[in-house]
Amino acid sequence: MLNIVLFGPPGAGKGTQSARLVDKYKLIHLSTGDIFRFNMKNDTALGKLAKSYIDRGELVPDEVTINMLKAEVEKYPDAAGFIFDGFPRTIAQAEALDKFLKEKNTSITLMLALEVPEEELIKRLLLRGQESGRSDDTDENIIRNRIKVYNEQTAIAAGYYNEQGKYHAINGVGTINEIFERLCHVIDTHSMII
Ligand code: AMP
Repeated sequence: MLNIVLFGPPGAGKGTQSARLVDKYKLIHLSTGDIFRFNMKNDTALGKLAKSYIDRGELVPDEVTINMLKAEVEKYPDAAGFIFDGFPRTIAQAEALDKFLKEKNTSITLMLALEVPEEELIKRLLLRGQESGRSDDTDENIIRNRIKVYNEQTAIAAGYYNEQGKYHAINGVGTINEIFERLCHVIDTHSMII
């Protein structure tokens, strides 16, 4: 299986690049943010709970997020692999994912981390907010809090994968095509080795 963690701060382009990668490598795209938004739109109990955190730019508690992610993976027993987008966001989530994948006789192949300067992220998110109306993308204070949460709680997960020799930083500034080529280059180089 090819299991990729697509990592990076909010606005780094994870969703955009995931759409292209699933097409090319025939993977299942799992975005915890998308699953939360689906639940919010349908006003489920999970959606109501998630909303209270998302509206402040905080992380949804680990236990809720991990259980939701596991249930989602279970829906695709025949998958050739997964792109995890926006998960894991804490060390506890990374450890839970490793344990869960091990039980399934598989593991994370690569972490691809998109790097984008902070002011560029804020510009991109405000633009996305205007286009999509996503409430957590329209308020600059919430955006700045999400980036702060990323720096304080999430960035550390990169070290977890680095210790396993799986971490690859990718320059996330450029055209969508340029960034896609950089991601594919790492995946293809790595797939030749494994
Ligand atoms: P995203 O679409 O990945 O930017 O996620 C939007 C929001 O959903 C985040 O700001 C968090 O509040 C929540 N969220 C998404 N993924 C996670 C996760 N892995 N752990 C905790 N909260 C998450």
